[in-house]
Amino acid sequence: MVVGDASLDIDTLVIGAGPGGYVAAIRAAQLGQKVLIVDKSELGGVCLNRGCIPSKALIAAAHQFEAAKHADAFGISVENVKVDFTKTQEFKNGVVKKMTGGVSGLLKGNKVEVFNGECMFINENEARVFNDHESPRYRFKNCIIATGSRPIELKPFPFGGRILSSTEALNLPEVPKSMIVIGGGYIGAELGQMYSKFGSKVTIIEGLDSVLAGFDKDMTSLVTKNMKKTGIDIITGAKAESAEQNDKEVTVKYSVNGETKEVTADYLLVTVGRRPNTDGELGLDLIGLDMDERGFVKVDHQGRTSIPHIFAIGDIVSGLALAHKASYEGKVAAEAISGMPSVVDYKCIPAVVFTDPECSSVGYTEAQAKEKGHKVKAGKFPYAGNGRSVSLNHPEGFVKIVAEEGTGLILGAQIVGLEASNLIAELGLAIEMGATLEDVALTIHAHPTLGEIVMEAAELVMGHPIHIIAR
Ligand SMILES: Cc1cc2nc3c(=O)[nH]c(=O)nc-3n(C[C@H](O)[C@H](O)[C@H](O)COP(=O)(O)OP(=O)(O)OC[C@H]3O[C@@H](n4cnc5c(N)ncnc54)[C@H](O)[C@@H]3O)c2cc1C
Repeated sequence: MVVGDASLDIDTLVIGAGPGGYVAAIRAAQLGQKVLIVDKSELGGVCLNRGCIPSKALIAAAHQFEAAKHADAFGISVENVKVDFTKTQEFKNGVVKKMTGGVSGLLKGNKVEVFNGECMFINENEARVFNDHESPRYRFKNCIIATGSRPIELKPFPFGGRILSSTEALNLPEVPKSMIVIGGGYIGAELGQMYSKFGSKVTIIEGLDSVLAGFDKDMTSLVTKNMKKTGIDIITGAKAESAEQNDKEVTVKYSVNGETKEVTADYLLVTVGRRPNTDGELGLDLIGLDMDERGFVKVDHQGRTSIPHIFAIGDIVSGLALAHKASYEGKVAAEAISGMPSVVDYKCIPAVVFTDPECSSVGYTEAQAKEKGHKVKAGKFPYAGNGRSVSLNHPEGFVKIVAEEGTGLILGAQIVGLEASNLIAELGLAIEMGATLEDVALTIHAHPTLGEIVMEAAELVMGHPIHIIAR
């Protein structure tokens, strides 16, 4: 309880309880620091409440729906398959509740103090946290800022009414008949495909020449093929210009190949990237923290900012805006504060997209490895050569491994296909441990599993795959 306006002393103040902040807080507490974590909203941040977890719960539901509709391939006839989207949303909300409750328990169990309120710096060593009831002032020895990011709002498409950010798109009360998605990055592709599976007529408008442009074309072509199968219109090389909405629908004007066109739908989802929460009331300018021109906090290899006892992690520092990157940086910052020599190394940070089929990548692509001056050998083993994927009726996709010529050192991997999100972990570990193709090929993988595709991809690059003919 705060007495008067005296400052409360803590070792480490963590601002923001997303996957960066709560992980940092737990690690700092494990290392013996007296930790306070503050969040103005729910524990778990965007990831648990408005991002990774709710989107994956809805995507899982969409997969179930589709599987039920197409069960006839297994000789099972399911008639009258319907979606009760209220129940689907209840399922998703239940998942979120379980996960955020779990974070609360973990913080408590690690003796991290939690305070719900908005944090503002007073100076380099003190911050005040406001909520409706109180506004205590804290003096800290160290601070980890993990305030995350929010959707970018474009001037012609202000959020509100029928124009949605990802947050509202995850909370629609019913499956819309139609939806326009501006931005074919991973959030747009995942949510667009999810609604399409539930029956919405989806149109994706993307400025670049393909959706998921960060991934190799041979991967994204499998995703776009599947998207088109469920009737998604993908308009690439297009610029969305304006939107007009009424209480029933929204019309977007866009230009493509020099022509102006328009499309109308129930809703417009705008997913064109995220902006770091480093502006506003937090007071980073007040304490004079160095930032780059895009609003990201500048940090060193431990997450240390220009003020040495203040660290920044997650979506507010440059790099991939992903939950596992935030958590990883959180652990490094907490350890650095405790005097450990931990530093970040992004060589093995995976990127995963939960489209159908899933895409994942870790380390270098073949092109990147060549650009870095490596002599490269690479190869793709198809899912179709694997008994498990065929018996699951998902024979589409491949595992590609990129290795160094001569040594066989694994430099990178890309996977498109069922469970690509899980399979990439083995290849991340391989890169982390400096493993070679031979190490992976000699690891006995259980049969019949999708994991065997990874083993066979290594054998393929070495020139002796068993389940396809080596050319
Ligand atoms: C739809 C969607 C799907 C996603 N899917 C994935 C995925 O599958 N995999 C993946 O890795 N990533 C995914 N992400 C990205 C992921 O959610 C973010 O990268 C991650 O949440 C960033 O973590 P963070 O800890 O940096 O910040 P956040 O999770 O954004 O948390 C920041 C917290 O800080 C709090 N805060 C901000 N300012 C203050 C203040 N002044 N005082 C107190 N508290 C404050 C906020 O309330 C928030 O809780 C997805 C994002 C979205 C939107």
